[in-house]
Amino acid sequence: LRWSGHKRRGVYLYEIILIINKMILTAGPSITQKEIEYVTDAITNGHGEHWADYIKKFEKSFAEYIGVKYALSTSSCTGALHLALVALGVGKGDEVIIPDCSWIATASSICYTGATPVFADVLPDTWCINPNSIEKNITERTKAIMPVHLYGHPAEMGVIKGIAIRYNLKIVEDAAPSVGTELCWKKTGSFGDIGCFSFQGAKLLSTGEGGMLVTNNTELFEKVKHYSEHGRLGTGFDISHIGFKYKMSNLQAAMGLAQLERVDELVMKKRLLYQCYKENLECVNGISLNKVSTQFERPNYWMTSIILEEDFNILRDGVMLKLKERNIDTRPFFPPISSFPMFKDANNSVSTYIGQNGINLPSGHNLTYEEVVYICNTIKEILGV
Ligand SMILES: *Cc1c(COP(=O)(O)O)cnc(C)c1O
Repeated sequence: LRWSGHKRRGVYLYEIILIINKMILTAGPSITQKEIEYVTDAITNGHGEHWADYIKKFEKSFAEYIGVKYALSTSSCTGALHLALVALGVGKGDEVIIPDCSWIATASSICYTGATPVFADVLPDTWCINPNSIEKNITERTKAIMPVHLYGHPAEMGVIKGIAIRYNLKIVEDAAPSVGTELCWKKTGSFGDIGCFSFQGAKLLSTGEGGMLVTNNTELFEKVKHYSEHGRLGTGFDISHIGFKYKMSNLQAAMGLAQLERVDELVMKKRLLYQCYKENLECVNGISLNKVSTQFERPNYWMTSIILEEDFNILRDGVMLKLKERNIDTRPFFPPISSFPMFKDANNSVSTYIGQNGINLPSGHNLTYEEVVYICNTIKEILGV
C-alpha cells in the first residue's frame, strides 16, 4: 500500500494506490514460529522411542477438537476415504452415492475398492449433495452415501442420516475441506460412521500433505487401524489381510499439531475474509456468494466463491483470465465428476451449471483487507458493473 501526496493550492491531496506486483494466490498456509519449533523438535528429537510422539498428540487433540472418540492420521484424505470404505466392507458390485460436484478423490477412493460411484446432483445454494437426488439414485446395490462438505459448507447431515437409516446405508463424510465447519453446533466429520479430512497444502489446516480419519465406532476404528498397517496382527510380522500403507510421518504431525493449536485463529481468518468479500460484492446483481440455508449451518468458508448467475457479456473463463492479467489467481469450480471419460455422464443440471459458472476467489490466510477490496473492484470492473 503506497500513499502518494500531491500539493495542490496549498492542500495535500492523498490517493491510495495499491500496488499489486505479485500474483495473489487462491490459497497458502499460515506458518508461524510455532510450526517451525515443533517441526524442528521432531527432526531433532523424534527418533527411537519418540518416533511417534507428535503423531499420538496430533491424533488425540484432533479427536478432541472434532468431538469424536478416535482419530487416525493418514498420508492423505484420499487414503483415509479408501480405508474407510474398506473397513465398511464396500467392494465389487456395491454402489456409493456421491455429489457430482466434488474433487475427483471422492470418486477415486470408491473405484479403488472395486465399487461404483453413483453421482447425485447438488443444491443450488449450498453446493452440497441434494438429499432428494440421493433418494432417486438408491438401488439394491447401494451400500453407502459419501456427502462432501464442499468448500467448507456443511452438507445436510440431518436429512442424509434419515435416508441412511431408512435404507440401511453407511455414511462416510468427505470432510476434506471442512476443518472447523459446524452444523447444529457439532463439527463436520462427526456425523457419519466415518469422517475424513485433508491437510494438503491448500487446505485450511496444512501438513504439506496429509489427512485424518475420525470415528466414534470402536470396532470400525480397530478395522481401519488394521488395514492401515498392512493388515498386520499386532506389532509383529503376522499378516491376515492385504492392507495399505497410508501413514502420516511424525514430522508432518508436528506441523499439524502446531496448526491445530492455532485452528480457531485459522478458521476465524477465513470467516473474516468471507465477510470482507460479502461487504464488497453483495451489492452486485447477478453474482451470488456462499450462502447458508439455515442458521444451524456454520461454514468455515475455506474458499469464498462466487457464481456468475447473469449474462455479463463475458464468460466465466474470460473473467478468470482477465483477473489473472491483473495478478489475481482464481480457481474454477469442479467440473461434474461424471463428465470425465471414465464415467457415464449423469447430466446433473445444477452440478453442470455451477461447474461452468463458479469461481473460487483468493482465500489464503495472508490476504489483506486491501487486497480483497482490490479483487472485488477488479471483478466489478471486468463485469462492467
Ligand atoms: C482436498 C480434497 C480431497 C483430497 O484430499 P487429499 O488430502 O489431497 O487426498 C478430497 N475431497 C475433497 C472435497 C477435497 O476438497
